[in-house]
Amino acid sequence: MNIILMGPPGAGKGTQARNLVETRGMVQLSTGDMLREAKDSGTEMGKIVAEVMAKGQLVTDEIVIGLIKEKLETVKANGFIFDGFPRTLAQADALGKLLEGEGQTLDAVIEMEVDDAALVQRITARSTCAHCGEVYNDITKPIPADGKCTVCGGTEFKRRADDNEESLKTRLMEYYKKTSPLIGYYYAKGMLTKIDGLADIDTVQGEIAAVLHK
Ligand code: ADP
Ligand code: ADP
Ligand code: ZN
Repeated sequence: MNIILMGPPGAGKGTQARNLVETRGMVQLSTGDMLREAKDSGTEMGKIVAEVMAKGQLVTDEIVIGLIKEKLETVKANGFIFDGFPRTLAQADALGKLLEGEGQTLDAVIEMEVDDAALVQRITARSTCAHCGEVYNDITKPIPADGKCTVCGGTEFKRRADDNEESLKTRLMEYYKKTSPLIGYYYAKGMLTKIDGLADIDTVQGEIAAVLHK
């Protein structure tokens, strides 16, 4: 089963994708994570995307489609979770063709609905474990008092350079202008299910599980 988790920055896509990896053995394909890896390892592509990402703008379709193509051709999985991809209609079309080429289907698109005020709070309070990538939140999911990651015991945590209010404004604008049209696109294909992303993490997890059971 292949699914897309869709929603604005901070909606909870990464958090829920990690849950699905753990509970169902699916494979998470996060273009944001792939781009950050490229940036951190200092590749040519990483250098090109760093500035664009810091500003909160979208990286070119060509680059992200290339990243997804490579994964689909090389990684075998009993289900992919697309997290943060597709973000434009061109990416959505490309994904459809790539999956078809691999003899696969797209089975569900889950839109996580949240309001903008909640996003500012979530994004500015976000951190992740530097070792395993577990996602934390100063308010809703704090790092344990002993300073150790609950998943791996790691003690180093990172905040993203683009998790500030200024960059979030641009990211939200990009979402509404370029990504939100995909909601109509997948609705018309009969693939879309909306869920309440404002509920707590476990409740959202339950709602996603219910969609996948159908
Ligand atoms: P968030 O989890 O806050 O939604 P991501 O980690 O998915 O953010 O993405 C971080 C940044 O990486 C984006 O602001 C954008 O610059 C770039 N990016 C990630 N995925 C894509 C994509 N599919 N198309 C274009 N740019 C992308
Ligand atoms: P996205 O990948 O969509 O950008 P994340 O999964 O990184 O979103 O979550 C953004 C922030 O909000 C993180 O700090 C995370 O711990 C927190 N968060 C995620 N889901 C919820 C939820 N349902 N309720 C409260 N906080 C949440
Ligand atoms: Zn960890």
